[in-house]
Amino acid sequence: AQPRKRLVIGNWKMHGNQAANASLLDGLCAGFPAVRACDLAVCVPFPYLGQAGASLQGSGISWGAQDVSKHEQGAYTGEVSAAMLADFSCSWVLVGHSERRSIHGESDQLVADKAQAALAAGLTPVVCVGETLEQNEAGTTDEVIARQLAPVLALGAAALEKIVIAYEPVWAIGTGRTATPEQAQQVHAAIRARLDGSVAAKVRILYGGSVKAANAASLFTMPDIDGALVGGAALMAEEFLRIAAA
Ligand code: PEP
Repeated sequence: AQPRKRLVIGNWKMHGNQAANASLLDGLCAGFPAVRACDLAVCVPFPYLGQAGASLQGSGISWGAQDVSKHEQGAYTGEVSAAMLADFSCSWVLVGHSERRSIHGESDQLVADKAQAALAAGLTPVVCVGETLEQNEAGTTDEVIARQLAPVLALGAAALEKIVIAYEPVWAIGTGRTATPEQAQQVHAAIRARLDGSVAAKVRILYGGSVKAANAASLFTMPDIDGALVGGAALMAEEFLRIAAA
């Protein structure tokens, strides 16, 4: 039996507007009752947190953000604190998405600090890790992920129990190229092996990278794949719900 409840999270990235969001959110609310067997969530751009909360309230679908400041409050122009996300009833926040790491130069330590800030505000950080194509081809996937996870693991067992990890090979994000279920499973098992026994059994490890309805079911048959972090396919209600149904 799968001890961990499946979790599917949509990452809208920098997409949407109030009108398009309204129809997407309505579509999710209408279709979700049929697939309640998994936890379903959307991580939306900051300005739409209120809209997401208002339409998802009571639906069973939860919501969150795509980034958070490591600082509690203060003179940090443009930053958004974990307490602000909690104020909008967010359950989740992505930290260390590969686009944040590569475009914004976020370090492994900063990602861990953000995870800690999220936990302190009662949010669940979804810590994203993954290797580039070059690193994959050089055979350094394990060591890259170990390095990315090191400061997160240093947060300790009590913190780790409450986090979600997303393995997202950079070469599979938005490229239409997915890791095979076996490739992904191998990395997920290696990640789980880095966690202490009781924590390892509890932490949900999601796969991300061109997940679609057509490939979700085979990924989800793998013992260490507990769900998915979905980008492009999360922008279409029907497709996203089909992934959840898988
Ligand atoms: C992502 O951005 O987290 C992602 C997995 O994107 P996509 O599903 O579009 O590859």
